[in-house]
Amino acid sequence: MALAEPQNAGGPKIEYLRSKPNGEDIYAKLTHPDHIRLLTLNPGSSADVIECSMEVVRLGERSYEALSYAWGDLRVREPIRLNGKSFQVTKNLWLAMRHLRDQSKPIVMWIDAICINQRDNDEKSEQVAKMRSIYEGCHHCSIWLGESPGPAGESAAMASKLLDILGKDQHLWEMPCFKKGVKRPITTSEEYKEYFEAAKQVIDLAWWKRVWVVQELALPNEVEFICGTVKFSYEKARKGTEVLFKHCLECCRAEMLGLLGEVAFEVLVAAYERIGSMVTTREEVRKGKAINLTSLRRRFHMCQATNKRDLFYGLLGLVSNTNLQPDYASPWGDAIIGAAWMCVSGENGMEFLLGERTTYPSNRQENVSVPSWIPDTCFDDDLSIFQAGLEQCRLLIYPFFTASASHSQKGLAIVHRALKVQTCMVGTIDRVGELCQPLESILQAIKTFLQWMKMAKIGTQD
Ligand SMILES: [Zn+2]
Repeated sequence: MALAEPQNAGGPKIEYLRSKPNGEDIYAKLTHPDHIRLLTLNPGSSADVIECSMEVVRLGERSYEALSYAWGDLRVREPIRLNGKSFQVTKNLWLAMRHLRDQSKPIVMWIDAICINQRDNDEKSEQVAKMRSIYEGCHHCSIWLGESPGPAGESAAMASKLLDILGKDQHLWEMPCFKKGVKRPITTSEEYKEYFEAAKQVIDLAWWKRVWVVQELALPNEVEFICGTVKFSYEKARKGTEVLFKHCLECCRAEMLGLLGEVAFEVLVAAYERIGSMVTTREEVRKGKAINLTSLRRRFHMCQATNKRDLFYGLLGLVSNTNLQPDYASPWGDAIIGAAWMCVSGENGMEFLLGERTTYPSNRQENVSVPSWIPDTCFDDDLSIFQAGLEQCRLLIYPFFTASASHSQKGLAIVHRALKVQTCMVGTIDRVGELCQPLESILQAIKTFLQWMKMAKIGTQD
């Protein structure tokens, strides 16, 4: 989860936290490496003050539920009662606790912002190292997406209904939410446009964009999504998205591309980009598949973290085999180079270098230089979901264009932050395709991808 990081590093938010001791007299030092804190959320109804108590236990000693949520704006806080004292939590966590609280029985929970003493850096490092065990060890994880968007909070229920339709194993043109188009194969049915708008709002909630939540969804035995008062199971999201993507990427590809410019297209791309990536990762973890850091970084290139090095470190709990150690002491540019080097020199080699480079102007503003051989570690907030989806398309077709195939890279080195690569001759260049610039024109980029595939004689009849 978002850990102890403020949403924006530096500035008045940190000052706010420092000036308000929060729970100083609540936390005693943890004295054993297996120790964690668990929270008991007392029963209550919606309007009651949130009352809870906290105790130290050994990991595995008691059954507990975990919570996954986005911290939200640190300036907006609400008080709860913790061990009889007032304690401040972010508004989004406060909302989550109100929704999760049972009317009649207490619930034992692990919640990062409360169970880790956020003012003790040593404890934070130790507890962060246990995150994998904590999420693997919970009996259930509630994923709080946030309050349901929409004027009357109706969007979550509408999105859930739409998922039921999209998750039926039907071709897009057979679904009630689409109808035959005049100039295009299909177009969105009038009465379903508001459903797609609602789904877009739900997929756009902050939870889907944070890097820490990836492992929180992937590791627990059982997870459930909660958006306002609407709950939907992980299985529903998994089945729905898997079936949908099978159609969108295979038999219904022309119909899908024909929706370009409609909200439905944006929803399908966003679902693939955000929900699909998370589902794929959880399924890989459940099957015990070895996952490397490069592919996770590629898959979650759109996810954000306050501290840019967490874009790598936040995924380490899922990586099977890596020598990368979190480094919060070096300047972030150096830490990113170190992490990128691990990816390049490790499993997937040059694949790591694939991708857009759009954030350099903002990096320069921060007066930190990241060498140009490192692809974007984090896209700008305003990068559209189309552009993000195109990056996923690029990854999908990448394996067809690896000229060096299984040749391993030799003679790799970083010299004065420059990447040195020893090349080898694998053949002669026969033809060169169009240059792909997805950030300039999305439509052109799709055409370019198709042109590449045609050129390489990769199954594209249409
Ligand atoms: Zn189909």
